[in-house]
Amino acid sequence: MTRKTDKQLGMLKPIRRRDFVQGALVTAGTALTAHQLAAADALSPPPAADPAISGEYPPTRTGMRGSHPGAYEIAHALGREGARFPQPAEAKEHYDLVVVGAGISGLAAAYFYRQKIDPDAKILLLENHDDFGGHAKRNEFHQGGEMVLSLGGTHNLEWWKFSDVVTGLLSELGVDPHAMREDMTFDYGHDAPNSPAMWFDADTYGQSRLLPNFSLRNRLTKEQIEQIPISEEGRESLLHFYTGAVEPLALSRAEVETLLSRISYPDFLREYARLTEDAIQLFDKDQHGSWGLEMRALSAAEAIEVGYPGLQLFGQDWEGEDFQYPVAMWPDGNASLARLLVAKLIPEAAPGANAQNIATANFDYSLLDREANDVRLRRNATVIHTENTDTGVSVTYASSGNIHRVTATHSVLACYHSIIPHLCPAIPAAQKDALKYQVKMPLILTNVLIRNRHALDKLGIDAISCPGRLHGRLFLFQGIQTGGYQSKGDAVSLVFWGSVSPPKDAIDIRSQLRGSRQRLLELSLDDFEREIRMVLDELLSPAGFDVSEDILAITVNRWPHGYAYEYMQLWDPDWEEGEAPHEIARQRFGSIAIANADAGASAYTHVAIDQASRAVDELAAIL
Ligand SMILES: Cc1cc2nc3c(=O)[nH]c(=O)nc-3n(C[C@H](O)[C@H](O)[C@H](O)COP(=O)(O)OP(=O)(O)OC[C@H]3O[C@@H](n4cnc5c(N)ncnc54)[C@H](O)[C@@H]3O)c2cc1C
Repeated sequence: MTRKTDKQLGMLKPIRRRDFVQGALVTAGTALTAHQLAAADALSPPPAADPAISGEYPPTRTGMRGSHPGAYEIAHALGREGARFPQPAEAKEHYDLVVVGAGISGLAAAYFYRQKIDPDAKILLLENHDDFGGHAKRNEFHQGGEMVLSLGGTHNLEWWKFSDVVTGLLSELGVDPHAMREDMTFDYGHDAPNSPAMWFDADTYGQSRLLPNFSLRNRLTKEQIEQIPISEEGRESLLHFYTGAVEPLALSRAEVETLLSRISYPDFLREYARLTEDAIQLFDKDQHGSWGLEMRALSAAEAIEVGYPGLQLFGQDWEGEDFQYPVAMWPDGNASLARLLVAKLIPEAAPGANAQNIATANFDYSLLDREANDVRLRRNATVIHTENTDTGVSVTYASSGNIHRVTATHSVLACYHSIIPHLCPAIPAAQKDALKYQVKMPLILTNVLIRNRHALDKLGIDAISCPGRLHGRLFLFQGIQTGGYQSKGDAVSLVFWGSVSPPKDAIDIRSQLRGSRQRLLELSLDDFEREIRMVLDELLSPAGFDVSEDILAITVNRWPHGYAYEYMQLWDPDWEEGEAPHEIARQRFGSIAIANADAGASAYTHVAIDQASRAVDELAAIL
């Protein structure tokens, strides 16, 4: 097959596109000059130039978002290069609380502090991105005429796992997940008649083939397996695994459990199911989005628990159905939850915003950090140092090419745990080691705004797995009318979802995560755009999609520090209670408390909230 040129793929069309060369800012151990600080600052994206929006409004920015250029260079200079910074001037601002990181955990910490410690508390939130919410990020498009909302990171509410603290907060914010479910029909692409589908691309499999109603977690039939464009032996091995009459291995249940918890799923497929390498490859990226990992990082037990086949080899039942569970969602993911928290903390910035209208409420970003506010939210501000003082805490941050210092009675570090040892060098060594144990899982969520869904409707699909491509899965994001949003018009976001495979020679879990992160950071916006256009051209042009005309905007939300690390069977021991790294890592240090989902070693919105509540309780206890 002949590859199309960039021009044929429409790469030169004027959709909003902005990218930056990411150069190292410093050499190890050197002091950053004012010039280098200003250079990092200049990477921050410009104000949105969308005619529908006046003033600065980050949710409408397209191109490279998530961890966008300008957000992380200072932190990387500090953490990776050991950069030193100029001394800040004397602190001019004093607060009751300074929160580092305005993700869900930081916002919730500010909320709980005012609720539990002082309703009039003066609070400053410092955030290194140009938007608040952390992973809970809103992508807002106007290129198709009517506003189209999509998620930029965190997807949904898993309310059945909520603690009383989280349920209480939601209720105070007016959020009712049960009612929200009545306003949504979206279910991750299980609606269309041929969904979910799997698409085998020509580059990887020699021919382009779309197989309808095809999921590796379903009972594949002989007819389906015969269509898979891999080797004859590969198809036979799959046929035997999915449909063959197997003589069960004579092992007790306990022996099966032990075996499955100690072997990776691909090794299990290789050694016990006798799949060929090209058959095993089909599974590699199937959990990229849900876990942020390749299948080789999962134990066989973990894979089987989320629905993959295997138990039949031991004579046990296998349901053979896609793993699905009910969730409540906003049309911008949990960004609406972050917006509700900001509206409570800084009501002037979003007058009249409430749970019923939060998805469409106006936010005036120019009012987030006014001197008159009791709570101030300062964006594009990277904290580089915190320390306990005789009177509380001192916090130093870089912003606008300068170094600033503020003081406070208390601080909550609601940022990633792996940066905390660099921000707070006085923390005891054992706690630093525990903080560094958290290596987050990289993720990508790319929104491609397409003119309409006609081609997908023609094919009868709204969710597709792509085992050979960069993004392992695509789904149409439509059908969520919560928070006052009504999707009108034809334009719709097709979400490309997954992670980046680490190098093959990255073996242990941390090497896999770091290798994946490095690769993610090395991909330019052009790389993503070219990949997206190639996929859509090959997949959808047979159904009438014109890749050079029908793509209206692309927003790549890259999350090099995505999910909090959750302990895994193949890589982590079973710690005694109180001895797990996250329990040691989150201990209060003087007037500095530690929150973030990392503190719960669990990548959920509700965990981020619970940990904020615990951190504030720890500060209340020393008053
Ligand atoms: C793509 C994706 C999808 C997800 N989907 C779901 C889901 O469907 N449901 C669910 O429950 N959970 C989901 N999660 C997990 C959930 O989003 C997180 O657990 C939760 O939002 C984390 O919130 P947080 O405040 O702890 O951390 P974060 O959101 O990471 O916020 C921390 C903030 O601190 C900032 N920061 C870091 N260092 C500094 C510094 N030095 N100075 C200033 N600021 C700093 C960061 O930039 C960030 O904005 C998802 C996560 C991702 C990445």
